[in-house]
Amino acid sequence: MSKSVKRGSEDVSGNTAKKPCTGHWANGLLSAMEDPNLRVYGDEQVVVIKDKYPKAQFHFLVLPKIHIPNLKKLDESHVRLLEYMQEVGHKITQKKQFSDHNFRFGYHAEPSMNHLHLHVISDDFCSDSLKTKKHYNSFTTDHFIDSQKVIDSLKNTGKVTVPSREECEKFLKQPLVCFKCGEEMTTMPKLKLHLKSHIAGTWLAV
Ligand code: AMP
Ligand code: ZN
Repeated sequence: MSKSVKRGSEDVSGNTAKKPCTGHWANGLLSAMEDPNLRVYGDEQVVVIKDKYPKAQFHFLVLPKIHIPNLKKLDESHVRLLEYMQEVGHKITQKKQFSDHNFRFGYHAEPSMNHLHLHVISDDFCSDSLKTKKHYNSFTTDHFIDSQKVIDSLKNTGKVTVPSREECEKFLKQPLVCFKCGEEMTTMPKLKLHLKSHIAGTWLAV
């Protein structure tokens, strides 16, 4: 069979992994990886895209080119790749334009989209696309698993243990708490206004 008619994706080493069909919304990241309007970096191993619905001022996704469905499919053979994804994400945040921002690097315990993706997100959570408690809590509770923690777990145990669906639901339903000062907020609009005041505080301090 010629390479061009092989099903699935192919990485540089010639390994193949079946990619799911791109038609379903949950597979949208597969087409996004090819979208020049979203793509900010690409090499033989990874692609970095801008998140189409950013939940902060700066929000990128780092995706491997080989198809890995999610965290549960990882084993120790993926350590180097995950370290590289982290490195690439880190490099992007080192650009001068981001020098005033802190970034979080991690994975959602229960992602909505197929194909493993590392979130690289500025921790201002200031964005029109951040609309719900679920959006906010998905990045500020244990629903967000730090990239280094995933790598360490793979090194130490050969797998990543993710919280159960019930635990994830609990994380997402937790009260809205400002991640900077710990103050509890009653609504998303109040939280967003409060978060903006922290940013304004930073600007005043400069
Ligand atoms: P997760 O909950 O970890 O699966 O997050 C998926 C991320 O992908 C979210 O932050 C979405 O805003 C983002 N997203 C969804 N659809 C697309 C798309 N077509 N292109 C780029 N990013 C997307
Ligand atoms: Zn606060």
